[in-house]
Amino acid sequence: MTVRQAVCLVGGRGTRLGALTESTPKPLLEVGGRPFLDYLIGEASRFGLERLLLLAGHNAGEVVGNYAGKVVGGLSIDVIVEATPAGTAGALSNAADALDPVFFLFNGDSFFGFNWLSLVPPLDRDDWTLQLALARGVRGGRYGRVETEGDRITRFLPKGESDLPINAGIYLVRRRLLDRIQSVPCSLENDILPPLAAEGELLGFAAEGTFIDIGVPDDFARGQDAMPAFIRRPAAFLDRDGVLNHDDNYVHRPDQIRWIDGAKDAIRWLNDAGYYVFVITNQAGVAHGHYGEEQVHSLHAWMQRELQDAGAHVDRFEYCPYHPEGAVERYRRTSELRKPGPGMILKVRDEWPVDMAGSFMIGDRDIDMQAAAAAGIAGHQFPGGNLLDFVRTHAPARRRNPSSR
Ligand SMILES: [Mg+2]
Repeated sequence: MTVRQAVCLVGGRGTRLGALTESTPKPLLEVGGRPFLDYLIGEASRFGLERLLLLAGHNAGEVVGNYAGKVVGGLSIDVIVEATPAGTAGALSNAADALDPVFFLFNGDSFFGFNWLSLVPPLDRDDWTLQLALARGVRGGRYGRVETEGDRITRFLPKGESDLPINAGIYLVRRRLLDRIQSVPCSLENDILPPLAAEGELLGFAAEGTFIDIGVPDDFARGQDAMPAFIRRPAAFLDRDGVLNHDDNYVHRPDQIRWIDGAKDAIRWLNDAGYYVFVITNQAGVAHGHYGEEQVHSLHAWMQRELQDAGAHVDRFEYCPYHPEGAVERYRRTSELRKPGPGMILKVRDEWPVDMAGSFMIGDRDIDMQAAAAAGIAGHQFPGGNLLDFVRTHAPARRRNPSSR
């Protein structure tokens, strides 16, 4: 099973922010010059999902006007508006017909920077109804705390300072959760999660990462600088053929892919370490008429699904279909996009908040190293073997999100 949908709760009224949210829904408040929700949507769009559903209530008009029908990085956005406030779980039952069998759910007024796909690997187990991302290392007395035993959540503890993690507001949910919503209003946090924990139906995944709750005035102030800083990260630019999969000449179908040892784990490692991961691949097979761009897209979508099973994702696949001696006329041209040109790397740099200083390229050929040099980033030539080992050796050290259950 593949997770394709994310659902965001944007209906909350920001009572703790007072006058600020009288006319604007809390998730639309400006943080670092952009609506807070834009950062959340940007994050959600990174994980290879296809659809995002915004569940709106308070001042829903602005949410509908700004987001309904938009597409962000492959995510198509829809908005469902509730007529009367039904609580965080009630909002879900209101949207029941639009929900997938398994979906991500996240709060529209808090941000937790971690690899969402860490929650996916136990998807083949049927012993849970909901998984929570837990934030470790959050200080202060304003959050309830979560007690775990192994990967299972056993209890929710009252607000207070503690070394225990907190609920970070990002969930992986099975739709059967809806069976438990008997009447509205119904709160996910108060009415649904505690009994689920008591029955052993809740898994927790704890990580360290930036956590910002804009419903709290201190965090709202901190977010003004912290959010733009958080999304500015170094990138790993990875060649595809010869790095992620064996270079078996004009590979263009899933049955032709032989993954390099450690490739999926290497990408997961880079995701957990907070790198953006971009694939940068010459696909002259398009210019030579061996396959079409549509096949390149569907192969990359397939690779993304395979990666999801391993808790990993590629932020974007960039490919160059051109070749100066191509057989197909519209692809017959020289292009700066084609490696050894730096065009694909520079295109990503211009469209994403990439910190080029800590970025690097891994490729198996000289043209990859030339492209990296021309783009002004480090290049590491992969000689074959295990890609995870290679990445661990060559990626500049960053504080990792320890991703243990
Ligand atoms: Mg290659």
